[in-house]
Amino acid sequence: MCGELARLRRRIRELESALAERAPAAGVSDAGDRRMQDFAATGRGWFWETDAELRFTYMSDSVLDVSGLPPEWHYGKTRAEIGSPASPGAEEWTAHLAALDRREPFNDFVYAREGPDGTRWLRTSGLPFYDPTGDFAGYRGTATDVTAEILAQNHSQQLVAAIETLDELFALWDPDDRLLVCNRRFRELNTDVAETIAPGTTFADYLRAGIAADLFPDAVADPDGWFADRMARHRDPGVPFEQRRRDGRWLQISEQRLPNGSIATISADITDRKRTEQELRRQHDILSTALDTIPDGVQVLDRDLKLAAWNDHLFEVLKLDRDAILSADDPGKAFRYALAGRGEYGPGDADALVASREAIARSPEPVQYERQLVTGNWIECRGNPLAGGGYLAIYRDIDEAKKMYARLEFLASVDPLTELPNRRCFLEAAETEFMRARRHGRALSFLILDIDHFKSINDRFGHAVGDEALRRVARRCRRTLRRSDHIGRIGGEEFAIMLPETGADLGYRAAERLRLALAKLEIPTEDETLWLTVSIGGMTVAPDHDTAEQVMADADAALYDAKNGGRNRVVFRR
Ligand code: GH3
Ligand code: MG
Ligand code: MG
Repeated sequence: MCGELARLRRRIRELESALAERAPAAGVSDAGDRRMQDFAATGRGWFWETDAELRFTYMSDSVLDVSGLPPEWHYGKTRAEIGSPASPGAEEWTAHLAALDRREPFNDFVYAREGPDGTRWLRTSGLPFYDPTGDFAGYRGTATDVTAEILAQNHSQQLVAAIETLDELFALWDPDDRLLVCNRRFRELNTDVAETIAPGTTFADYLRAGIAADLFPDAVADPDGWFADRMARHRDPGVPFEQRRRDGRWLQISEQRLPNGSIATISADITDRKRTEQELRRQHDILSTALDTIPDGVQVLDRDLKLAAWNDHLFEVLKLDRDAILSADDPGKAFRYALAGRGEYGPGDADALVASREAIARSPEPVQYERQLVTGNWIECRGNPLAGGGYLAIYRDIDEAKKMYARLEFLASVDPLTELPNRRCFLEAAETEFMRARRHGRALSFLILDIDHFKSINDRFGHAVGDEALRRVARRCRRTLRRSDHIGRIGGEEFAIMLPETGADLGYRAAERLRLALAKLEIPTEDETLWLTVSIGGMTVAPDHDTAEQVMADADAALYDAKNGGRNRVVFRR
């Protein structure tokens, strides 16, 4: 019985397949089916059919070409089973399945199909159909693969979302210069002209509205000129430029023409940077003014010893060619090489000399020194390392001060009438010489010389003749003495003489030589020639002397003796 049934089934299958081979030429319904197949194959879609349980029972072959899976893969499964629950979303699925429950037709339901080959997006429409008895038999419909479309749509949605969250202002203008899309930041900065930033507004209208709303302070003076300039930049986008807004904000605007002729405007809010820049510029101006006001030369080096700031006095004080140095690639280095080349750092190889100066600038110790430039000018240099790295050097021209000081020193030590060292100066030299003689056990003698009756010369011939007499006595003394001897004017008509390496005998002889030479000195007056005499007291350094002053006091006592002895004589104490 079983075998009989199996044979019968086999026979039926043979007949069916024979019938199927002849199918093309068969009945009207077959022809209609084939027509439908052709329609489906020419489009990007396919036909499908389900049973009453919504399981796919048929799908045209084109589903394989279009969406990658053969019809058979679908059979027996429902749409909910092959679809991803997350796409398009739980709500959409519930609504779709409810519509199917109500046997309603549906249109353009888009969902993601999960197959062994991955995810494809499908768009499908369907109609319910019924059997001859009027019972619901299933759905029939068409489907297309819309993966590319959906991906592109997702892509552009992501792009718009990304643009929306940009920190920059973004606007895209189509080839007719109408606004396509703009982002939140762009809208925020243009709330005053909100109605003109709707899609479709032209760039020109947007600009005009902005000018009318006073958004651009730079447009106020010449709105038409500003408008024309801004339009020109927009039509021919080039380098980014800056724009000031009424609320005090600054934008850096960058525009780009896209291949299809659209123009993208991307603006960064650079207000903070601009404020910092302005503050820096203000500080820089203050610093420049301060630097220019300082009479000293100022040089600021950064941590790499590059010239960071300077004033023109720097080049004046150091007698350097400002333009040559500032036009060098590395002015800081050029400055150091200019000084080294001129011999300011001493003899030697310029590279080594510059390297040693750079080591000083890198050391944490401040320096201060006076130096005579090879040009002869004196400068004072103060160098200080800077806290954050780098070096500050201040050069002061002290040439004038130096010369004045030297002059002062000269004036303070020299008797203006005879140009001999004055008392203070002579005493200083005397103490130095005294110590040296003491140290080396050398002889040293002092003479005190006083003009006899000088008061009466003044009285007889006048003060001017007296002065001339003093000058001539000073000159004659100097000529008569040895080069190594010192002479100073220590009182009105009183001179002190220091004789190094000279004991009592030689000292006495030197004093006599002086006395005789001065006795022959002629001093011209208006009517006659005047002669004068001097008295001299002498003393040689003895073991009980502690200072030169003590020796001179003894010599003074000897002078006193010479005066008392009748004048015009030498008394030398031993
Ligand atoms: P004695 O022989 O005792 O030294 O007598 P003297 O007159 O030289 O001594 P005294 O100390 O009494 O007088 C010194 C005079 O020298 C008094 C002063 O007017 C004069 N005298 C001092 N300094 C100068 C000066 O710079 N120029 C002139 N012309 N006279 C001076
Ligand atoms: Mg005197
Ligand atoms: Mg005298």
